[in-house]
Amino acid sequence: MKTDKKKKPREERVLDGLGVAPGVAIGPAYVREAGDLQVVEYQIPAGKVKAEKARLAEAAAKAGRQVGKLKAKAVGIHGLAAEELGYLLEAHLQMLNSTRLIGGIERRIEGDRRNAEAAVMAEISALAQEFEAMEDSYLSARAEDVREVGHRLLRCLTDVEFHGFSGLERGSIVIAEEISPADTALMDPREIGGFSCVLGGAEGHTAIMARSLGLPAVVGVPGLLPTVRSGDLLIVDGSNGLVIVNPTPARLAGYERRLKDMAREVRSLARLRDVPAKTRDGQHVGLQVNLELPRELNQVSESGAEGVGLLRTEFMYMNRNDLPGEEEQYQALAEIVKAMKGRPVTVRTLDIGGEKLATSLGEQLGESANPALGLRAIRLSLKEPQLLRPQLAAMLRAGVHGPLRILLPMITTPGEVRAVRKELDKTARRLARRGIAIADPLPPVGVMIEVPGAALAADSLSQVADFFAIGTNDLTMYTLAIDRGEERVAHLYNPLHPAVLRLIQFTVEAALRARIPVSVCGEIAGDPRFTALLVGLGVRELSMTAKAVPRVKSRILSIDMHTAGRRAMMIMEQVDSGRIAALLDDFNETAN
Ligand code: PEP
Ligand code: MG
Repeated sequence: MKTDKKKKPREERVLDGLGVAPGVAIGPAYVREAGDLQVVEYQIPAGKVKAEKARLAEAAAKAGRQVGKLKAKAVGIHGLAAEELGYLLEAHLQMLNSTRLIGGIERRIEGDRRNAEAAVMAEISALAQEFEAMEDSYLSARAEDVREVGHRLLRCLTDVEFHGFSGLERGSIVIAEEISPADTALMDPREIGGFSCVLGGAEGHTAIMARSLGLPAVVGVPGLLPTVRSGDLLIVDGSNGLVIVNPTPARLAGYERRLKDMAREVRSLARLRDVPAKTRDGQHVGLQVNLELPRELNQVSESGAEGVGLLRTEFMYMNRNDLPGEEEQYQALAEIVKAMKGRPVTVRTLDIGGEKLATSLGEQLGESANPALGLRAIRLSLKEPQLLRPQLAAMLRAGVHGPLRILLPMITTPGEVRAVRKELDKTARRLARRGIAIADPLPPVGVMIEVPGAALAADSLSQVADFFAIGTNDLTMYTLAIDRGEERVAHLYNPLHPAVLRLIQFTVEAALRARIPVSVCGEIAGDPRFTALLVGLGVRELSMTAKAVPRVKSRILSIDMHTAGRRAMMIMEQVDSGRIAALLDDFNETAN
């Protein structure tokens, strides 16, 4: 079911989007088509017909949402292409809602007792042939649309989010409608140059993963798929949010020069690796690393970071259809703790749900009208102890090999922390009974402050937490009601909003009063623009993607604590985020 894209002249085209991972990639385009699905066909027993129809309905609803999103994006393209794309997607939506198509598939599930995928393939093929046989050339061409819709349905049914990217030409740039965090985890930066896609926001996990792997990326590019063909030469400029298709020789030469300059800057910053992160007046600021995948471990030492401030354990659940057991999790964690050679590792319990979906957890997660407000993170772990217990056991066991801290995501009440502590004690006793070595004393248990309610109740949470980690990505999203992964509202996402800053300040003050450590591990921790403000607010630990460490350290070396504190207080008196940004930028530019 390949889609035959219309041939476009190969002149240069410059497309705008959201630059979410800095840097420049130059390479051939690989347009990920939905053409390589492995669809399994089988008979189903009578008792499974209802469940199979429900699966179809769920897939059709998901496909409808995807097309709806694409249609909204098409408005952002100018000229004829927008109109053409708009009509096309409307036709796809109508097909997905039509009883002719869905009813036909249902009849095949029921009558032929075929699984939903097989029924979709049979129905689509029959319908496409009907169209092809029509005399009218316009109608016969619609067969292609039928196939595309069928393909989308199959993709949603099989929920194939994980396509490998091996075997592509070295330096290829992946182009797709949507790229999930799990897809990104499969990209090897030694093989893949970068990527660009139609959907996605700047603070979504795909973006975070791209930054952490050092893959230049531009998301939210409406005109991408109608413009780019596999094999086109592309420049992805992740710093400026541009995708340049078939660049002119002059443009190419300019970008090649930039690549050289960037490599020179990285080499020069690498010299800071062993320099202590201290302000001009001697205040030490702990710099740690956020780890998404174990394969980034070598970057931690290269960066000169003092430990892992946030290990997101979601990688263990990605790109698979089963769940990792205790032993597997222990092995993965132990490897990381050992590699850190005595430097602390902060391991976060599972934070799946919301935009972070794992295929292996489909059953537990279920459908939610508001996934970000639903059964996410600690809520899921506490509801499904069979998820939490092996994680805690693995952490307790890995804590034998070095200092390990446990971090709980999306906490809103002290009761949740107490419930986890209870599970932790139980798990420790169970392991001890079996004679298995565990961390002694038990690891500290910290709380992510990433929901406004948690920040406002930081005083009460500080009574049950051994440390705080402020997750400004979610804190900004929940405070401002802006979906961090949604490109259409990305321009409104602003951690410099006074409400967000007040919540950070409130949390830091509560931690200082309770004498517990507090770090910031959201993406602003790795952006030198925010360093002086955070340090001025009293933050003494920052955790960020390994690549950001040298730049942030360089900023710390130039800061005078007292002036930063005074400027932070001045900023906190402001009510307007524009004014806040101006005061901060002015402070940064005068190199204080
Ligand atoms: C955050 O929300 O700021 C955070 C660090 O957690 P995540 O990005 O994994 O949600
Ligand atoms: Mg978070």
